[in-house]
Amino acid sequence: MSRPSSRTFAQRIADGIVLGAEGYVFELERRGYVQAGPYVPEVILDAPEALRQLHREFLRAGADVMVALTYYAHRQKLADIGRADDLEQMNRQAVRIANEIAAEGSALVAGNICNTWSFDPADPVGSGEIVRAQYREQLRWAVEEGIDFVISETNDFFGEALIGLQVCQEFRLPAMITFASVRSHSTFDGYDYVDACRRLADAGAAVVGLNCSRGPATMLPLLERIREAVDIPVAAQPVPYRTTQATPAFEALTGPDGQRLFPLQLESAALTRFDMADFARTAAELGVNYIGVCCGGAPHYVRALAEALGRETPASRYSPALELHPVLGEQPSAVAQREMGGWRAEP
Ligand SMILES: [Zn+2]
Repeated sequence: MSRPSSRTFAQRIADGIVLGAEGYVFELERRGYVQAGPYVPEVILDAPEALRQLHREFLRAGADVMVALTYYAHRQKLADIGRADDLEQMNRQAVRIANEIAAEGSALVAGNICNTWSFDPADPVGSGEIVRAQYREQLRWAVEEGIDFVISETNDFFGEALIGLQVCQEFRLPAMITFASVRSHSTFDGYDYVDACRRLADAGAAVVGLNCSRGPATMLPLLERIREAVDIPVAAQPVPYRTTQATPAFEALTGPDGQRLFPLQLESAALTRFDMADFARTAAELGVNYIGVCCGGAPHYVRALAEALGRETPASRYSPALELHPVLGEQPSAVAQREMGGWRAEP
């Protein structure tokens, strides 16, 4: 088994905060390479250059981890879109591409498994075996291509998350396991999110925490409780959207006419890069060890997270210098001053 990084995941996270970057599926959908609805990452085979480019942009923005885009690249999902024959090639190529770009900046490579929609809490054993078989085949290919650790994410069920952990353990891979906390307090199979994280920590997870669904405002209070409950590293990868106590998860956000914003009209609820920088600082103060972004994530957010943590990234070469702006800057042009009045609102 080959590990892409010269230092293990355990060493990297012991040294300090590991910066993640996700949201590949949403961003590649916006760029025209993934279909909204099924959200299967067909881009891996259909437009590998587009995937390489996004990996590279996240790397330049400061990401410490290249996450193989195998989210929703499991047997059930590929069967749904009639591409079951592409399953192995898609998984292998996603990990290969993640390795290729990680090597450009000595990033870690993460294999990725996720909620399968095959798990049924009414039949946890029978359906669990279907989930287990899907994770086993995905991770076998990932291990053969080379990964440092596994991110099992967007888990809705504790039962399914535990299967993910067990399969990682079969392969002796460190597992970072995170829940998509769509509900206020507990997983779909009735475990309080804090308790679910504690149980996974006790069962041997390397990292536990939350990803997706919640924006920083509603993820941070829950994270604080998870941080207090476990003594292993904690992960937080929120969505960059304005979730509220009344609507803690972005799936339920609505617009002014009551229309559902998820997943195609979330822009009006988007946070700014400064909001995400604030999130990174607060999460670091709470003692969160793996900080990133999920659906809605894009390179400018990742750079903001990195710089908020005091890092300089390759993309920082082009970080804002508004003091040099012709109208808003320290020495605005005479024409701008005379004609535009510094862009103040007209009385
Ligand atoms: Zn997400």
